[in-house]
Amino acid sequence: MRVARRAKELRAEGREIVDWSAGEPDFASPAVAIQAAQQALADGRTKYTVASGIPDLRDALAETYHQRHGAPWQRPNSLVTVGAKAALFEVFQILVDDGAEVIYPTPAWVSFGAQVRLAGGVPVEVKTGEGFEITAAPLLDAVTDRTRAILINSPCNPTGAAISATELRRLVEGAAERGLVVISDETYEHFVYDGEHASSAALAAEYPDTVVLVSSFSKTWAMTGWRVGYMLGPEAIVAKAASLQGHMTSNPTSFAMWGAVAALEGADEDVRRMIEEFRWRRDFVVEKLNEIPGVYCPRPDGAFYVFPSVARCFEKVLSPDQRGSLGLAEHLLEEAGIALVPGLAFGDDDHVRISFTCSREILAAGTEKLTAALMR
Ligand code: PLP
Repeated sequence: MRVARRAKELRAEGREIVDWSAGEPDFASPAVAIQAAQQALADGRTKYTVASGIPDLRDALAETYHQRHGAPWQRPNSLVTVGAKAALFEVFQILVDDGAEVIYPTPAWVSFGAQVRLAGGVPVEVKTGEGFEITAAPLLDAVTDRTRAILINSPCNPTGAAISATELRRLVEGAAERGLVVISDETYEHFVYDGEHASSAALAAEYPDTVVLVSSFSKTWAMTGWRVGYMLGPEAIVAKAASLQGHMTSNPTSFAMWGAVAALEGADEDVRRMIEEFRWRRDFVVEKLNEIPGVYCPRPDGAFYVFPSVARCFEKVLSPDQRGSLGLAEHLLEEAGIALVPGLAFGDDDHVRISFTCSREILAAGTEKLTAALMR
């Protein structure tokens, strides 16, 4: 927030800022989605719907994961929510009682810990290693008799690391043996650049009471402002979430859901094009960052972030009282006009997060400015 506020001030002063802080694609929402939402408005689909979302979208979501991953889900397993954020909020409210623990690997997205705390629970963070690999054993080792759920986010915001199918199976098996739920945030499921995305949906037939999948239209279809996300999982959990949602937000916006149906059914080509572009940008930015002395940037499997280690630059460019990822982010903003997110926000002060959600030209100019600022 501090970096974003300062970036805004500098922009207002007329400075050109390279914005690498955004958590959303720089692509337009699919035309078919826009047309369908406009049509829904024109057709008067502007009233309350069922609180759990329009049946067409709930069915289309269940069917999509059935076809893609063999999940046995049907309408009662499917809930449309106001973004993935609301789905996560609801699942924590339902599963987590006072003092219950939710285990998840870090670095992690900022809202996980906050949402677990809001439910009265205790976030238990398990640090991943050098390459940020998400593996089952350390997460299962952290289980206590107070643990209620294990949460993973693959591909991960901010590291881009993705869990392998083998590790995912180990995790779900281990969780099922212990009577726990695995909450799998797959918001970035389509942003996988090498190989296949390992989805928890593929294990839902074997472990129907264990797997809760949360995902969203926000990133895959560049529809962040539409606020449409979803949860798929055990009927009992989905029904409770629907009931909570009925008192919280009621249905997600009616015409946005009609746009989402159209995106799901007719925008594969838009998604494919966007992923191709992001793959190019990932390769470019990783190469450029690794050329900067003192920077080490692991190659992310997915999402649209890189999370380079920059700790070796602290001494070189920062005064002793400034040393840390926030100090570096502030320094880069003032000196080079680059806005990025300090790793501190995700629980890791040695790194910064760069979103490659900008044009190739801005990416090239930005990496040049960054190189100059860190070599100085
Ligand atoms: N989960 C992760 C890991 C995210 O990074 C985000 C957004 O940045 C969300 C969930 C929330 O997405 P939505 O826009 O669907 O609420």
